[in-house]
Amino acid sequence: CGIVGYVGPQSALEVVMAGLTRLEYRGYDSAGVAVLADGGLAAAKRAGKLVNLEKELKERPLPTGTTGIGHTRWATHGGPTDANAHPHLDDAGRVAVVHNGIIENFAALRAELAERGHALASETDTEVVAHLLAEEFSATADLAEAMRLVCRRLQGAFTLVAVHADEPDVVVGARRNSPLVVGVGEGEAFLASDVAAFIAHTRSALELGQDQVVELRRESVTVTGFDGRPAEARPYHVDWDASA
Ligand code: GLU
Repeated sequence: CGIVGYVGPQSALEVVMAGLTRLEYRGYDSAGVAVLADGGLAAAKRAGKLVNLEKELKERPLPTGTTGIGHTRWATHGGPTDANAHPHLDDAGRVAVVHNGIIENFAALRAELAERGHALASETDTEVVAHLLAEEFSATADLAEAMRLVCRRLQGAFTLVAVHADEPDVVVGARRNSPLVVGVGEGEAFLASDVAAFIAHTRSALELGQDQVVELRRESVTVTGFDGRPAEARPYHVDWDASA
């Protein structure tokens, strides 16, 4: 439903939680976050409103990191439980992914992953992406390339945003028939399903095209097609009233 990603000098958790709050108006049944910190990945997720997640974060604080992602979920596959809330992680807990939309061929992908020995921890269509990204990352050591390879195997409509503990200053996003916008700041960058999530930080946005993957770093935003060819994203200025 709602997606936020951040890389920059600020506390990613704070930026992401504030962004998710700005997206609350869309309605959702669960929420979660993941941050990269101290060479690892830490995540928290809870069914229910953002206050449930905030309570969880107070009881079990995440380490402070400057790269992170967050999600508010509107369940389509698997009930609104803690386990089904996003982010979804791979077996080793090194990659985290959030997703809007539906992955139509998830059942075949789940069966394939189970056969290769992966333990699936949720009932969602989304979780397959975490395991597939982990597999492709172990072959490529490049999260954007892993995302391109995975997206070429997916059917359906999706916005995906992912981080990997082995690429601590990178957030990768992808979209097909589902919205994803980039916010470009000074030494920081944002990804969101809706500009409302980052409007407090920057008005400089990039609209991704269909079947594109974006790699965010503090100082660069790189867009390609799912096929790996360099692509252009349309830059625009967000001029509507942030208080609206
Ligand atoms: N299909 C995914 C799920 O049910 C994502 C739902 C959404 O767009 O929030 O977990």
